[in-house]
Amino acid sequence: MSIANGILDIARDYAAKNEATRISRVALLIGEMAGVEEESLRFCWESLARGTLADGAELLISRVPLVARCDSCGKEKRIEHYNFICPCCGGTMLTVSGRELRVDYIDME
Ligand SMILES: [Zn+2]
Repeated sequence: MSIANGILDIARDYAAKNEATRISRVALLIGEMAGVEEESLRFCWESLARGTLADGAELLISRVPLVARCDSCGKEKRIEHYNFICPCCGGTMLTVSGRELRVDYIDME
């Protein structure tokens, strides 16, 4: 619920700054490791947005894959099964993307 609330705050701020009367779409980038349940986020969003500028706004969710880079040899790969060991040199892989949760863009009228 707090995530949906934060997104709504951002969207309303943005709409106020741009003197918009209606928010039609909110695009989100959500890392696959961000721990966000898409279905419950949509559900919370719909109930929170009701009666606001964002009533009926489409929530566009793009999942960002978990990618890490080796600390030793610099190789990048998609991480599966929480395996953060570099397949090339055995070094430790550091997360590059996949944990983010942010608003990509907002469409309004
Ligand atoms: Zn390596």
